[in-house]
Amino acid sequence: MKFALITGGSRGIGKAVSQKLAADGMYVVINYHSNTEEAEKTLKEIKLSGGKGELLQFDVSVPAEIEKALEKFSENHPENHIEVLVNNAGIRKDNLQVFMSDNEWNDVINTNLNSFFYTTRRLLKDMLVNKFGRIINMVSLSGLKGMPGQTNYSASKAGVIGATKALAQEIASKKVTVNAVAPGFIKTDMTSDLDEKELKKIIPMRRFGKPEEVAELVSFLASEKASYITGEVISVNGGIY
Ligand code: NAP
Repeated sequence: MKFALITGGSRGIGKAVSQKLAADGMYVVINYHSNTEEAEKTLKEIKLSGGKGELLQFDVSVPAEIEKALEKFSENHPENHIEVLVNNAGIRKDNLQVFMSDNEWNDVINTNLNSFFYTTRRLLKDMLVNKFGRIINMVSLSGLKGMPGQTNYSASKAGVIGATKALAQEIASKKVTVNAVAPGFIKTDMTSDLDEKELKKIIPMRRFGKPEEVAELVSFLASEKASYITGEVISVNGGIY
């Protein structure tokens, strides 16, 4: 049974990914930050459907917390290691750059970009030694085209896209693939404050996407079937650019 870690796996896109990878037969390690109730609900639903997994709480923006939690995980599972890593946890703190505070910039960079570096570096050695791994980074349309009011968020996602392409080339010979998934507008808590009725007009498919539609691609990229795909950024966005 493969072990998969999904950061921010308790709600939204991460939840759909956790459910799908569990249905694919993986043991899902579901990370979350502070909403324990939702995380427990997600794990319970997965178990009721016959899946296997556990919760692993830590703040992805704090390197010491990542290290401590993953160390504890290794102690509890000495025979296993994470083979599939989905760097999905992310936040938005939108503001026009001229008004943006240091915290709005740093919180988004730490949560969306620096988390990729610390979590991936910690899990990479086992993947390289065992010559198998799947690293899937949740980026965004904002990281591809840039969105006004989101210089922090766009920079964080563009940073992960660059790192995805660089790391993919570094470790391709070890059969560890690194890809990025770039959703457009997906219906989750993160987008609940947006004017869906207005925004739908600029999406060629005239609707927001569902978390499950993103999870299908993650499932494919995590599978053996995607063994020759690396360094790619694949959009799931209903045709918007
Ligand atoms: P969401 O509904 O707001 O869920 C966020 C998840 O991330 C929750 O499980 C949350 O845990 C966790 N999280 C947040 N900060 C964390 C931290 N510091 N440490 C650990 N976990 C943390 O978000 P979503 O819409 O599913 O987005 C998931 C990813 O897709 C993000 O990277 C986002 O940037 C990206 N994305 C989303 C969209 C969209 O339209 N929704 C579009 C493009 C890209 P708690 O419940 O404990 O807070």
